[in-house]
Amino acid sequence: MGKVLAIANQKGGVGKTTTSVNLAASLAATKRRVLLIDLDPQGNATMGSGIDKSQLERSVYDVLTDGCSLDEAVQRSEAGGYDLLPANGDLTAAEVELLDMKMKESRLRYALASAREAYDYILIDCPPSLNMLTVNGLVAADGVIIPMQCEYYALEGLSALINTIQRISSVLNPGLQIEGLLRTMYDPRNSLTREVSEQLTEHFGDRLYQTVIPRNVRLAEAPSFGLPVLVYDKQSRGAVAYLALAGELVRRHRKAAGPVAI
Ligand code: ADP
Ligand code: MG
Repeated sequence: MGKVLAIANQKGGVGKTTTSVNLAASLAATKRRVLLIDLDPQGNATMGSGIDKSQLERSVYDVLTDGCSLDEAVQRSEAGGYDLLPANGDLTAAEVELLDMKMKESRLRYALASAREAYDYILIDCPPSLNMLTVNGLVAADGVIIPMQCEYYALEGLSALINTIQRISSVLNPGLQIEGLLRTMYDPRNSLTREVSEQLTEHFGDRLYQTVIPRNVRLAEAPSFGLPVLVYDKQSRGAVAYLALAGELVRRHRKAAGPVAI
């Protein structure tokens, strides 16, 4: 059964969308069946997957609010080699509309229930806030990947996110775990980066991914061509790092599942 991972941090600009798109493409490159869900009204993951957010007939908005099935709204990202449940500005309305609905926190989870067999990984690119959309992402997920920059205020924001994750796991989704913390835009020459990195290791131990994502201009350029970095520049440090992250993630899951009987 597919693993559902939410990529979340209420801070904007920490690399959630970059990680969602490039991890999805890297997992797809290792022959995993991947669905990427864009849960941000900005639609950056949609555009970054080569799908025009202004031309959507159906989107995650319809799935959340209209009872539209996943199959009706999912499109293929040819560039990424994965399936995409796209988003655009319509989703802003869902934040408000959801508040009056029954099971408002669990609508994405129910929509995904039938799709879990069809994928190895379902990744959810969450918006930069702890609103009802992010809550839907966390209630639908088995684990949370938290991308973060190693800077002074990074740790401060982390406690609000971890409180939210704990609250959701105690009330709505007991299976929810912190899958891993990912250091993005990493610059080992910066002493503050190293200091924050040490604190993270102390606090989170092996929940901190060993793979770090360097600051790499190719990662910032690729979305304007609607391409994952793996397709845009396969040799770049960014592409290599996200492939390494996919490898680390898959190895962890294999280990957690134990030896497979043959
Ligand atoms: P979020 O989704 O958390 O708001 P993004 O993934 O959109 O963050 O990243 C914010 C900006 O930083 C984007 O312009 C993106 O291209 C750029 N960026 C993200 N990760 C890197 C990186 N490792 N190196 C260089 N630029 C990056
Ligand atoms: Mg984003």
